[in-house]
Amino acid sequence: MLKIDMHTHILPRNIPKFADKFGYGGFIHLDHHRKGWARMMQDSKFFREINENCWDEHIRIKEYEPYHTQVQVVCTIPVMFSYWAKPADCLYLSEFLNDHIAEVVKDNPKHYIGLGTIPMQDADLAIKELERCKELGLVGVQIGSNVNDKNLNEEAFFPIFKACRDLGMAVMVHPWNMMGKSLMERYWLPWLVGMPAETSRAMCSMIFGGIFEKLPDLRVCFSHAGGSFMGTIGRIEHGFNCRPDLVAIDNNVNPRECLRKFWVDCITHDIDALKYILKLQGSKKVCLGTDYPFPLGDLEIGKFIEESDLPVEVIEDIMHNSTLEWLGLEKGLFL
Ligand SMILES: [Zn+2]
Repeated sequence: MLKIDMHTHILPRNIPKFADKFGYGGFIHLDHHRKGWARMMQDSKFFREINENCWDEHIRIKEYEPYHTQVQVVCTIPVMFSYWAKPADCLYLSEFLNDHIAEVVKDNPKHYIGLGTIPMQDADLAIKELERCKELGLVGVQIGSNVNDKNLNEEAFFPIFKACRDLGMAVMVHPWNMMGKSLMERYWLPWLVGMPAETSRAMCSMIFGGIFEKLPDLRVCFSHAGGSFMGTIGRIEHGFNCRPDLVAIDNNVNPRECLRKFWVDCITHDIDALKYILKLQGSKKVCLGTDYPFPLGDLEIGKFIEESDLPVEVIEDIMHNSTLEWLGLEKGLFL
């Protein structure tokens, strides 16, 4: 069975000190301090240590082989979005990252599919880079769950979504810049609590903002199985019904009716949670994703699904059909 992992992160091996080029700090660079490992540094502050499977496309292909997974959809690591930077500098950084991903895809067309990153803080520049991404052979973009704390329903982002629709570029929404981060540093809470809430924030913003009604052909996939959205859909719907004066101010469509208008990945680490999501979304809107190569990801690449009692047709949808439809690609490209 063809397996496409639609949620993985990649970086170029060498990331220069953009702070030196732009004249101000906050950007990530890589410090290759020992063989096979690099420190991601934000100026002089340590962010995370990463392994060579973060930048070496050949090692990545080998690590996927034991799990019979041939294709990875690659995008950058959200900390690279840099929406807070000057727009022109963020554009430059985005071009650098997108050129690298395009090269990986070009060199390994049966193993990689690419998603770009765009300077969301400036719609004109974002659309310019979106168009370039398409020319480079990327099939969509990954965007953050908020843009400098602005929610995705804001009018400033609509032209970008419209351009994605017009160009046939898919959108992956990934949590980042987690709300309440400074209030919950202990116990890795920004990742365990903040990220699922961020994804729900993005989904509610787009649903209540009416994005899926205005752009029914826009193809959006939300990370981490929709975060806390799916588990709280009853509460969200009830809120819509009991306080329309607060909730239904921009869109009069019940949020439950918006299910199946978007895709989600399957990163639940819990087969029962996944079964509930399949019940809500249908198997055509749930994609194999893992968050490889990071430890919070499903690094057995969907093994918990393959070992489950789910019907083979459902597993087939998750393993490739849903992702191919989200990205607008044909299966034959990878056979
Ligand atoms: Zn991720």
